[in-house]
Amino acid sequence: MIVRDATTGLLSLVAPARSLRPTPRKHGHLVDLGTQACPFCGDLHPDAVATAGQDDSWTLQIIPNAFPVLTAAEGGRHEVVVEDSAHDGDWTDPEVHTRSLLAVAKRIGELEATPGVRCVLWFRNVGYLAGASLTHPHSQLLALPQVPAVVANITRAGRQGLASGSGSAWQALEQAAGGDVVWDDEQVSVVAPAAPQTTGEVWVVPKDGRSSISGAGRGTLEAVAASLHRITCGVWGSTGPVDHNVVLHSLPASEGEGLQWHLRWLPRRGIPAGLELATGCQVVTEAATQTSARLRDGWRAWAQGLQKSGT
Ligand SMILES: [Zn+2]
Repeated sequence: MIVRDATTGLLSLVAPARSLRPTPRKHGHLVDLGTQACPFCGDLHPDAVATAGQDDSWTLQIIPNAFPVLTAAEGGRHEVVVEDSAHDGDWTDPEVHTRSLLAVAKRIGELEATPGVRCVLWFRNVGYLAGASLTHPHSQLLALPQVPAVVANITRAGRQGLASGSGSAWQALEQAAGGDVVWDDEQVSVVAPAAPQTTGEVWVVPKDGRSSISGAGRGTLEAVAASLHRITCGVWGSTGPVDHNVVLHSLPASEGEGLQWHLRWLPRRGIPAGLELATGCQVVTEAATQTSARLRDGWRAWAQGLQKSGT
């Protein structure tokens, strides 16, 4: 059930069934269930709504979430993207990101066409501090009958940017981000925003001017996937692996004029405390220019390490 806090305008998803989830989390870390007990290991799920690879050697599958935060009867959908058949998947494998984005974009198009659905989100939680409950590589899709305030605010900023002459939605978003450009090519810009929500946050901004990832072309999706790979390796190369979230902001074309769909990659090294809850302000310890320089250095270090190891 969706309930809106009239004081802040923020939504709460009240889902008591979530308390029934197996949660192998304790003492600040995830407990690996192992392949035998892992719900994402094994054969294709009988209710899979999308797959990649062959039936007997699948590489990705999208399945209904066994503990949905919002059900179809409540006007939503909640699905799990099992992003790798391997229990110990590798986020530095570029193929994982490409495979996932291609499948996610297609599935989001199908969910957007569902009557009553107004917004479809995708997010990946990696590690304890990012809120993950299972170690097997996976992400989630959530279809909502309402547009969350965060997405509505980003869209409003995009429209204001276009009205003041930004040229295109991606340029409006990049200008709104401020901060510093980490990498840039013809298809994608990676930006360290001026006001990150967590230390080291970066945005992957495609330059296709589309509000929804569902309309993105294969070339754009592959370029965004390559950016996710490069960010991951850049972080790993500079600080080592960190817990992190990847979140998508996207709206159907009918809703999203002014929004450029994009991804935000958020390292998670701490948990929100009283200051954040009281003020909505986030305390970060790195300016945008520091983040971009660290990521570029980290990527170089990572690539040199690969050269040395001959891989
Ligand atoms: Zn597994």
